[in-house]
Amino acid sequence: MASAVHGPRLVLLGRQGAGKGTQAAKLVVHLGVQHLSTGAILRQEVAAGTELGLHVQELMEAGDLVPDEIVLEVVAHQLADPDVQRRGFLLDGFPRTQRQAAALLQLLGSSGLDAAINLEVPAAVVRRRLLSRRVCSRCDTPTTARHREHTVYCQICGGTAVRRPDDTPDAIERRLATYEEQTGPLLGFFRDKRLLVDVDSLGSPDEVFDRLMRELQPILWGTGEAVS
Ligand SMILES: [Zn+2]
Repeated sequence: MASAVHGPRLVLLGRQGAGKGTQAAKLVVHLGVQHLSTGAILRQEVAAGTELGLHVQELMEAGDLVPDEIVLEVVAHQLADPDVQRRGFLLDGFPRTQRQAAALLQLLGSSGLDAAINLEVPAAVVRRRLLSRRVCSRCDTPTTARHREHTVYCQICGGTAVRRPDDTPDAIERRLATYEEQTGPLLGFFRDKRLLVDVDSLGSPDEVFDRLMRELQPILWGTGEAVS
């Protein structure tokens, strides 16, 4: 089913607040891949009030992660999409654990994965970014609030940018701790398979993207004549 993906096949890793949303948007424009954000997909289910959405909402409100089986089902469904198979994909928010990573590679079969990109940022920087993070209530585009009470509008659609309900300081600390626990084995798994691409994610979005593309170019287009 997901064995015939023709475009780039990428996973985007990094703590929440490491600038994943910004880099994902740039990668989508630059590579023409389909952005598969499991967080956004699950939030759509919550907003639509589906059976899956109601279950996911309970878990999110408790600060818990959504179980593997549910996320895997959602991802498998997305990967089977003809548009995804034609254009390639950027998976964002999945996998979170080594077990999920193994399941993903199994799902992809012979087409495999090109790279798992790891955006690296110190925890203190991430904490500060998360507290000022807002997301468009209409189109899900991420943005940053300069002041806590400042109203922020989306640069894409003009919608109001809001703090996510699960972005309280307590929930942020819990997610950072959970990420630390799970990320070691996950990064090790991809490193062992020579799929991990570490990218220093400090600096402007353009600087980080340039670094990222320098790493990806030989992987996606070979070491010969670079295509940009
Ligand atoms: Zn918007």
